[in-house]
Amino acid sequence: MIDHDVLIIGGGLAGSRAALAVAQNYPHLSVGLISKVHPIRSHSVAAQGGIAASLQNVDNDDWLTHAFDTIKGSDYLADQNAVRVLTQSAPDVIIDLEHLGVLFSRADNGKIAQRAFGGHTNSRACYAADKTGHAILHELVMNLLRLGGKIYQEWYVMQLIYEEGNNGQEIKGFVAYSLETSEIELFRAKAVLMATGGYGRVFNTTSNDFASTGDGLCLTANIGLPLQDMEFVQFHPTGLYPAGVLISEAVRGEGAYLINDLGDRFMANYAISKNRMELSPRDITSRNIACEIAAGRGINGGNYVHLDVRHLGREKILSRIPFAREEGLRLAGVDCIDSPLPVRPTAHYSMGGIPTNIDCQVIGTDSKAIAGFFAAGECACLSVHGANRLGANSLLECVVFGKRAGEQLGAYVSDRAMPKLDPLAYIADAEAKLKGLLSQRGNARIADIRQQLQDTMTEHCGIYRDDRRLREGLAKLQVLRDRYERDLWVDDRGSVFNMEMMQAIELKSLLTVGEIIMSSALSREESRGAHSRDDYPQRDDAKYLKHTLGYLEMGAVKTSNRPVDMSLQTIDRDRFTPQERKY
Ligand SMILES: Cc1cc2nc3c(=O)[nH]c(=O)nc-3n(C[C@H](O)[C@H](O)[C@H](O)COP(=O)(O)OP(=O)(O)OC[C@H]3O[C@@H](n4cnc5c(N)ncnc54)[C@H](O)[C@@H]3O)c2cc1C
Repeated sequence: MIDHDVLIIGGGLAGSRAALAVAQNYPHLSVGLISKVHPIRSHSVAAQGGIAASLQNVDNDDWLTHAFDTIKGSDYLADQNAVRVLTQSAPDVIIDLEHLGVLFSRADNGKIAQRAFGGHTNSRACYAADKTGHAILHELVMNLLRLGGKIYQEWYVMQLIYEEGNNGQEIKGFVAYSLETSEIELFRAKAVLMATGGYGRVFNTTSNDFASTGDGLCLTANIGLPLQDMEFVQFHPTGLYPAGVLISEAVRGEGAYLINDLGDRFMANYAISKNRMELSPRDITSRNIACEIAAGRGINGGNYVHLDVRHLGREKILSRIPFAREEGLRLAGVDCIDSPLPVRPTAHYSMGGIPTNIDCQVIGTDSKAIAGFFAAGECACLSVHGANRLGANSLLECVVFGKRAGEQLGAYVSDRAMPKLDPLAYIADAEAKLKGLLSQRGNARIADIRQQLQDTMTEHCGIYRDDRRLREGLAKLQVLRDRYERDLWVDDRGSVFNMEMMQAIELKSLLTVGEIIMSSALSREESRGAHSRDDYPQRDDAKYLKHTLGYLEMGAVKTSNRPVDMSLQTIDRDRFTPQERKY
């Protein structure tokens, strides 16, 4: 059994920032960070465009305007006190990152440069060219190592330990296995932070990396805790066609045009986006692209439109968005200096996740904190993004709430004893599970079930949804789940870096998360933010201005809900009371 005061699952921006905060503020505590990939290969490293903060280096900005943009962008579903913390803390965390060594791009006057992003009133995205996540994550991990944080890389967490403690049910640690050797180990702590990122791999076209399989969400659902607002899946407007990898919003921030087969900048043709054009929020822009494609105005009648940057000129393209150019060259054979890039919407971000309060403590269906359990980053739902996240607000969330989680964890465990735990049964269970997977004699390949799951999710729970498609999709998922349980076949029977075995466990996460997304989508009979129902095209505040909770009960998904926090209304009733969303 391996003991730490604090254990953090996930080495992306949220997990690394949290671990660093523990190490900085509580040097006497031992903090362990575990990750199934090397921490700086976490998906955060791929973040490109920027991190939002009202620094006022370009525009006369302030945190309340940032909060307003975020809440309006969320279609009024965000919890307003959480948005207050996010936007008020933003300028400080950017300065803090700079002090940790992050090299942000500069304006001519030497200040941190800031660029425009969709749905933001002012230019407030700070960036390091179009490699912002890379610049930040490297410094966080280097600083963590410098301060003696212990990192367990290439370990896979397969079960949370949630059992009776001194004062009722509590999280006491988790079971993990080493990808290198398949050795199973029990990790025990006074508190655990979940920071496992998103689930983009549930869909067949995604900007997310291969590790974004929603494991933390599945681990949490498996112990009977709810996941919140899972119906809100962000489809980013500009995935490179056909690969799906991201062409950052920074490209539109720098002035790119979206063009259809007629050569029109079609954003002008939609009332909701004609003012902000290409810098409208993502849910709106993705829907417009989907409509153009459905109406046969995709390029050559096909499944994509054009993103054109030629008018920016070679020099600006090479200095501001070099990575986007590289991606176009590498994956589509298109040099955007001379030709437009083919793009279409791609599954990108999870607005939903593990519900937490503003101190990052995980909460149950009764809104009470779960002892010893915290969450931060994309796997958490605070909720600062509500029904639709604005670009550059996720890196910000990871850093603001990662830091806050670390500070809270340090304080929380300071007067807590190490929980009592009998490892034998857990280890035996995990061994049986891994052996079971390897000895199962079925006909279904992982890739086959995964492809069918991804196609089902994309077809039945994509940008547009309705009751019939969702119900049919759920029935298909049940069949896939049965096939997984009875008929899965894993070729590799070895114990050294058995990636197939890991993919088999990840596939279970994808199936569970997919079912909760679909069930939550079915339960919300309105259109709000990224959740667009053909059969309920209007937002319905009377019935649905509330968060959805989806949880497993006896193996089936159930849903309930909880209220939205509207506390900023007391500061500014005009701006923070729900109103029709126009841009
Ligand atoms: C291509 C791309 C570009 C983006 N650009 C921007 C941007 O410009 N601005 C912005 O604000 N946001 C952006 N985002 C969103 C943002 O990058 C992510 O939401 C954020 O980085 C998520 O960070 P995280 O720490 O929550 O998770 P991640 O960085 O995804 O890290 C998850 C960690 O959990 C670990 N893990 C998962 N499961 C297990 C398990 N079972 N056992 C052990 N470890 C596990 C992984 O190994 C990894 O270390 C972008 C996203 C993508 C995909």
